[in-house]
Amino acid sequence: MSKSLNEQPPAYPHSTTSTSFELQDRPEKSQPLQTVVPLSGLTCSPAPVECPGCNFHGMTVTKQKIGNTTHAWAVGTWAFTCILCCVPYCIAATKDIIHICRSCGAHLATWHRSGHTEVLLYN
Ligand SMILES: [Zn+2]
Repeated sequence: MSKSLNEQPPAYPHSTTSTSFELQDRPEKSQPLQTVVPLSGLTCSPAPVECPGCNFHGMTVTKQKIGNTTHAWAVGTWAFTCILCCVPYCIAATKDIIHICRSCGAHLATWHRSGHTEVLLYN
């Protein structure tokens, strides 16, 4: 009688997968602060400002406004054409730009075509 050896498969040691929890230090996302433009430095385009009225930080809302430059253009156009004096009132390039607070609607400043910025709301 031959005794069959019941060979057992060698028991493999349970491989323990070492899971290491590595905390990755994420650099904090600091929002880049918008450089605030002083009201006296506003031009013909919207710019980030701090509203003196409500301390709102954000872009201004710009609107066109008929100003002295528009009238000057009207006079000049009238002098040359006698007819088209109303044209400058339709051309945006001759109008002043008013800056309005997006939050409280305050009229912050007016940029004149002459290059002068008139600040209307102070701290
Ligand atoms: Zn405001």
